[in-house]
Amino acid sequence: MNTPAAAVDAGRLLADLIAGRFPDARGRFGPFGGRYVPETLMPALERLERGVREQLPTRGFKEELAGQLRSWVGRPTPLTFADRLSGRWGARVWLKREDLAHTGAHKINNAMGQALLAKRLGAKRVVAETGAGQHGVASAAACARLGLPCTVYMGSIDMERQAPNVGRMRLLGAEVVPVTSGDRTLRAAIDEALRAWVSDPEDTYYLLGSVVGPHPYPYLVRELQSVIGREAREQLLASSGALPDAVIACVGGGSNSIGAFHAFVPDATVELIGVEAGGRGAGLGENAATIAFGRPGVLHGTYSMLLQNEDGQVQETHSVSAGLDYPGVGPEHALLAAVGRVRYETASDEEALAGVRALSEWEGILPALESAHALPAAERWARSHPGRSILVCLSGRGDKDMSTLERTLLEPAHR
Ligand SMILES: *Cc1c(COP(=O)(O)O)cnc(C)c1O
Repeated sequence: MNTPAAAVDAGRLLADLIAGRFPDARGRFGPFGGRYVPETLMPALERLERGVREQLPTRGFKEELAGQLRSWVGRPTPLTFADRLSGRWGARVWLKREDLAHTGAHKINNAMGQALLAKRLGAKRVVAETGAGQHGVASAAACARLGLPCTVYMGSIDMERQAPNVGRMRLLGAEVVPVTSGDRTLRAAIDEALRAWVSDPEDTYYLLGSVVGPHPYPYLVRELQSVIGREAREQLLASSGALPDAVIACVGGGSNSIGAFHAFVPDATVELIGVEAGGRGAGLGENAATIAFGRPGVLHGTYSMLLQNEDGQVQETHSVSAGLDYPGVGPEHALLAAVGRVRYETASDEEALAGVRALSEWEGILPALESAHALPAAERWARSHPGRSILVCLSGRGDKDMSTLERTLLEPAHR
């Protein structure tokens, strides 16, 4: 493999992964991760790292978070046996229902956890970035719940594409700031949120939405999302008496998938499969499949896989699902790929749309377009492993995607 990981001992890295030794003290996942930021940002990141280390393990934080997850987020989310899909595909298919979490996706697990942390660290306000708007809505909701003022930076192009979520954030009391610099989408919004944080690091908390960015974010977000896999593992053991043979999840920045995988990484019998957005095809700019088509590089303060052109310029991406449309991926995924613990596949726009149709018609569940990317890959696995069991992380619900679905699945050409 053409990454620096090839130079080191993959066997030792895998053993360290299984033993839970990542990130290390420098915030690294093997060769990936770390903290590639301007000097001005270092004090804020160091303060945050200290706060994470001091707060997360305490009984007080854990109890407060567990209480909010239970009474406000709606956890544990159900584990659903997909009866009709299983009959059709030939393997036993289980769905972890993050679509039933408050605000409609797994994003709320992270948003509530970090909002609680912000409060404990004495922050007076929260800033966040958002692309499709889902993380902005989750952050706005969590901040409203805890009485924290919230400012969400959003690319001006995304504000047009995702107008209903802009309205939701405003109703939840957040200020939505249009970003007209750079690519006017998520990438520029992250830059702007980081800038706002640097200008007032004492009173501001930056609530980052996925397992990306500089240390400690990939660690912090993983810890808050790993509740998905912990719950699913217990629920499966309770209802079927066995671990699944495979766990599968879609990968954008990588938070729902890391959340689903983390509890299963040490289980050698459990295959882990991440599914990236294959978009319209393999060409540069036609997809958002970072691990499939990217090369190592630095984006938003972390060293990971990155979609870039020949000159190392970050590449524009395409996916039918706005939530997967990011040119980077979390550094822990880069390591999981390099050592072969997780296999990464792609699903195209067309396949994801077919996944939406299948789950809707066969199980009565309208999945988010992001989550639907996991379904064609789950079907391929199921058909080649008859009688075995697969756990699919259903990261969110599809109501937010109705305008895209009207233009695609409900058009006469698709019917
Ligand atoms: C944001 C989002 C994703 C992609 O983000 P990850 O960090 O990769 O999980 C996937 N599914 C849904 C429903 C989302 O809202």
